[in-house]
Amino acid sequence: MIEVTNVNKSFGDSKVLKNVSLNVNSGEIFGIIGHSGAGKSTLLRCLNGLESYDEGSIKVMGDEVANLNGKKMRNLRKDMGMIFQNFNLLNSKSVYHNVALPLKVWKKDKAYIDKKVKELLELVGLENKAKSKPKELSGGQKQRVAIARALALEPKILLCDEATSALDPQTTNSILNLIKEISEKLGITVVIVTHQMEVIKQVCNRIVLMKDGEIKDSGLVKELFLTPEGELKDLLCGDEL
Ligand code: ATP
Ligand code: MG
Repeated sequence: MIEVTNVNKSFGDSKVLKNVSLNVNSGEIFGIIGHSGAGKSTLLRCLNGLESYDEGSIKVMGDEVANLNGKKMRNLRKDMGMIFQNFNLLNSKSVYHNVALPLKVWKKDKAYIDKKVKELLELVGLENKAKSKPKELSGGQKQRVAIARALALEPKILLCDEATSALDPQTTNSILNLIKEISEKLGITVVIVTHQMEVIKQVCNRIVLMKDGEIKDSGLVKELFLTPEGELKDLLCGDEL
């Protein structure tokens, strides 16, 4: 689904991705962990073309991301929904309008938008909040709106950048369960960037551990956590990175 091979990227003199390689399989929930500044968000942004890379290859569903432009790049972004720590909702707009926004950008007709938004709000358990403004919602509810919006264009991949970092443990659990349910029900591939070890343990199949732009460890979560070694062991000493 996603093949990253020997990717290098610098911002000016500082090299932030060093020979990064990883594969994400279709339908799996894949985790990227590491300390602040490790390059996790930069890598995620390279996957959907929000950031360019200097060397190496990133293939998403067979297409080299660096070669995409115009319509093909828009299609790639349509196929990859993204959610963030701070939700990135439009605060002056209702829940309905936040979720409808990508559908309007893609010029869907009103009847389709109404039906789709209703479906999405049911999926995330917010069917009664269509008219509310983001400021009237809890953090978990805001993230549910962001998830509904990220799914509006029926993406094949969902990228989550610290999506539960601003939430309390109980709300984190409910959002993770929702992400898991969505992945299973809709067959969506999920890539999760996080500092939170609990997130990894609860939902990820496989992970990579990044440090200073490099991948230091990778493998199946159940095996890595059973007998952690090296960098992972150090990181596990604190429950949070
Ligand atoms: P965090 O856990 O704090 O979110 P991260 O692992 O996501 O960290 P990145 O945001 O990918 O880390 O940043 C990796 C490095 O690249 C950092 O040293 C950061 O300062 C640098 N960096 C990120 N974006 C830019 C940019 N647009 N211009 C210059 N440097 C940048
Ligand atoms: Mg980040």
